[in-house]
Amino acid sequence: MTQPSPPAPADDATLEQVAEAVAALCARFPGAYWQELDRERRYPAEFVQAMTEGGWLGVLIPEAFGGSGLGLTVAARVLETVHACGGNAAALHAQMYVMGTLLRHGSAAQKERWLPRIARGETRLQAFGVTEPDAGTDTTSIRTTARREGDTYVIRGQKIWTSRAEHSDLMILLARTTPRDQVAKRSDGMSVFLIDMQAARGKGMEITPIRTMLNHATTAVHFDDLRIPSDALIGEEGRGFRYILDGMNAERILIAAECIGDATWFTRTSVEYARGRVVFGRPIGANQGVQFPIAEAHAHAQAARLMVCRAAGLFDAGQPCGPEANMAKYLAAEASWKAADTCLQTHGGFGFAEEYDVERKFRETRLYRVAPISSNLILAYLGEHVLGLPRSY
Ligand SMILES: Cc1cc2nc3c(=O)[nH]c(=O)nc-3n(C[C@H](O)[C@H](O)[C@H](O)COP(=O)(O)OP(=O)(O)OC[C@H]3O[C@@H](n4cnc5c(N)ncnc54)[C@H](O)[C@@H]3O)c2cc1C
Repeated sequence: MTQPSPPAPADDATLEQVAEAVAALCARFPGAYWQELDRERRYPAEFVQAMTEGGWLGVLIPEAFGGSGLGLTVAARVLETVHACGGNAAALHAQMYVMGTLLRHGSAAQKERWLPRIARGETRLQAFGVTEPDAGTDTTSIRTTARREGDTYVIRGQKIWTSRAEHSDLMILLARTTPRDQVAKRSDGMSVFLIDMQAARGKGMEITPIRTMLNHATTAVHFDDLRIPSDALIGEEGRGFRYILDGMNAERILIAAECIGDATWFTRTSVEYARGRVVFGRPIGANQGVQFPIAEAHAHAQAARLMVCRAAGLFDAGQPCGPEANMAKYLAAEASWKAADTCLQTHGGFGFAEEYDVERKFRETRLYRVAPISSNLILAYLGEHVLGLPRSY
């Protein structure tokens, strides 16, 4: 399989221009917009449309397929900026990294058919069906099966937390094609499929929304003998777990960038409030008990940002970046949570009021200590693969 050529390294001036342009677009979608979506648990259709028209969703799609092929460093800056402006880029990051599975492992026909449409915004590829009720952290325990029958595969099983399934035209699905007791390694015998959601809905695939503490359009998806064409298989049968792993570094770096954007938003908001709120005749920010946690959160976020930039740079250069991508995700998720908690505390009771956006961003950023991979599992990866400690799970 030919790999896409690496993008030219993005210089600081380019990255600043990207951030300015994305911030100008985000200014059209203020806090009130995100509050309304959150209240109604609505998908950010207008925002996604505007970002697509601006060309920002196609950053990772090569020019040959209608994207701009600018690379992960630029994509990370796009997402960081959206979050630093108070928005939420979940739909964007999903499309960016889910698309990568198709880009890296799809056939020429699959790529030619779908990537230009995705780049133009005609088709959304934002659903990623991996997690199951009994297989979250332990992905190789999945029970959803794909059974080959002539020119088709028959899918049976259940996925959970499949975000944006109701708003996506395509889904990347991981299913077992060989039973676990018939493969040499647990990670063998799984395959990846590109599911045409419109064709599948009501014909063996049902989507049930799950209401959560944040507006994430997440769902459970049931497959009851859904029949799909055999050319929906991506790459080789049985190698799906490797394909999913291949995309994980990109996913971690992009989400880490969002966490950095959140931390920036929380710290800026904390500073503005702490300078203006007067208690006992002086701004609360004049108290070390208020000021130091804000400064500390800022320091943690800046350090984490360096690791995100390092990981993205290695990724774009085609270098191994597993440790850096994992450390970036871990440090950024912890830093954004620290900044979030500090921001809420700085605002006192007003932090709980919807109109300040703090409580919404607080709920949103909390997700990243759990999903797509929990902080514990990153530490387990670092312990085993980077430090050489015994496997802990
Ligand atoms: C809002 C939301 C959106 C999501 N979107 C998607 C999506 O689009 N597609 C998708 O496939 N999945 C999605 N997920 C699923 C997400 O990736 C999983 O929730 C995550 O991988 C954790 O799996 P789990 O929830 O089953 O937790 P479990 O695996 O049950 O783990 C529970 C807790 O135990 C800890 N733990 C488990 N084993 C160990 C160990 N050996 N050592 C130390 N700690 C351990 C974990 O760190 C975790 O904190 C989403 C989840 C949420 C909440």
